[in-house]
Amino acid sequence: MPARKPFVGGNWKMNLHTDDAVALAKSLADRFDATDKVDVVICPAFPYLAMVGKTLKDAGSGIKLGAQDAYFQADGAFTGEVSMAMLKDIGVDVVLTGHSERRHVINETDVLINAKTLAALEAGLEVILCIGEKIEQREAGQTHQINMAQLEYGLAGVTAEQMDRVTIAYEPVWAIGTGKTATPADAQEAHDRIRRCLKFGFEWGEAIGDKVRIQYGGSVKPGNAKELFGQADIDGGLIGGASLKADDFVAILEAAC
Ligand code: PEP
Repeated sequence: MPARKPFVGGNWKMNLHTDDAVALAKSLADRFDATDKVDVVICPAFPYLAMVGKTLKDAGSGIKLGAQDAYFQADGAFTGEVSMAMLKDIGVDVVLTGHSERRHVINETDVLINAKTLAALEAGLEVILCIGEKIEQREAGQTHQINMAQLEYGLAGVTAEQMDRVTIAYEPVWAIGTGKTATPADAQEAHDRIRRCLKFGFEWGEAIGDKVRIQYGGSVKPGNAKELFGQADIDGGLIGGASLKADDFVAILEAAC
């Protein structure tokens, strides 16, 4: 099995305005310099992307800049939307697609999520494709089916070469922002099934499925990060609430080293 470099993302969601966003980025850049051991991305809200990017750049940080969403069309009459090329233009490296809040609050479909994933890759960005089941789906024993379906739809049309820039975030919806975390064993079981789907469910072949990083997301905190990240198929995490505090996020990053 190839050694996979852990990858940890901070999803700031619709939080932090100018001063707090810049201060948090600066603090992370000053306090965490082990990006040789773990890839790190922080995802501020759209208005703060450029200034957070500048803060990271001025500090000489290896932390990447991520966007929480973008539209799939290249340009034109799409009022309120932001294209992948625009993000690339201002220095964004990574874009999230399929986050559960976009699926279940904004009602994005698998077809739209796939279009966004393809557009981001086409624009040269990295993608973190988020998947995961809702509580009623888990209780109905459908966790793996939901994950497989979201993977198959989300990655339809992605080429083997593009898979180098794809990370999967497994985020059980019931664990996001709730303080409830999947047990490390349950999370590992889901990640193992996801990896098997990546290895055997697509035409890229097994070697690519082995290389893809699969993050866990859902109430990861300094106290549970080490055990989660220690599982064989958990290659880091996507962190919401705990990424808003430098102390907590740095402790989580250190747990991934
Ligand atoms: C997320 O926003 O992707 C997330 C996992 O949030 P939290 O860590 O707060 O559960």
